[in-house]
Amino acid sequence: MTGCVHLVGAGPGAADLLTLRAVRLLGAADIVLHDALVSEEILAHAATARKLNVGKRANRPSTDQAFINRLLVRCAERYRTVVRLKGGDPMMFGRAQEEIDFCRARGVSVVVTPGVSAAFAAAADAGVSLTHRLSARSVTFVTPATARGAEPDESWADAAAAADVAVIYMGKSQLARVRDALLARGLPAGRPALLVENASRVEARVIGGALGELQSLAQRMSDGPALLVLGEHLSAVAARALATSYAATA
Ligand code: SAH
Repeated sequence: MTGCVHLVGAGPGAADLLTLRAVRLLGAADIVLHDALVSEEILAHAATARKLNVGKRANRPSTDQAFINRLLVRCAERYRTVVRLKGGDPMMFGRAQEEIDFCRARGVSVVVTPGVSAAFAAAADAGVSLTHRLSARSVTFVTPATARGAEPDESWADAAAAADVAVIYMGKSQLARVRDALLARGLPAGRPALLVENASRVEARVIGGALGELQSLAQRMSDGPALLVLGEHLSAVAARALATSYAATA
């Protein structure tokens, strides 16, 4: 048998941000290979499927990508419906292309179901639009993180500095580098900044301030996944979040 591999977005955390299509596919799945960040509540939709955690978290032991690629093909040889469940949207910083190309090169078909990316959940929790028709007409999604073994490069910072609004994924552990790279490209130290941690979850928190003080802001975070959002039009929200670092879902 050759089954189908479904790359499915699990959304940013809240189980009710799953799409109806994701729920249907989880219910039909024979096996689910999921990321570490996917909650039990979401996996409960795959009541009858085998479940395998192939997750990666920064600085923790992770499953090798080449191994996951081979596993997907092996699963497709054994099962009809294989769900590869990824946090947020599978096509955003999720190594989806590597899995798609590997499977298709071996004759395994791949279908993608989008999910709510963390940027959209963070904007919702913070109550900030990522765009503003007067003052923010470009948004960039960047990450300073590189593949293991790859040459470090700062092209992400060029893109972040050029856009009205920058959403920075996987930057939490290197906020000093993020700050220095953006200041070096001429962004003002006072550029309003929001750190949104655990977006869409009950523990969600928004911490606001300015680019120049990112490191001290970071000390107020716990150990959940976090996004950094920078933009001049965020000043009111950043000031409010600085004063209170409010719980986003309160
Ligand atoms: N495909 C995912 C992103 C994977 S990269 C998506 O579309 O959202 C993982 C990074 O996403 C984390 O390091 C963090 O920067 C961000 N992230 C994921 N979930 C998050 C959440 N609930 N709140 C804030 N940031 C989150």
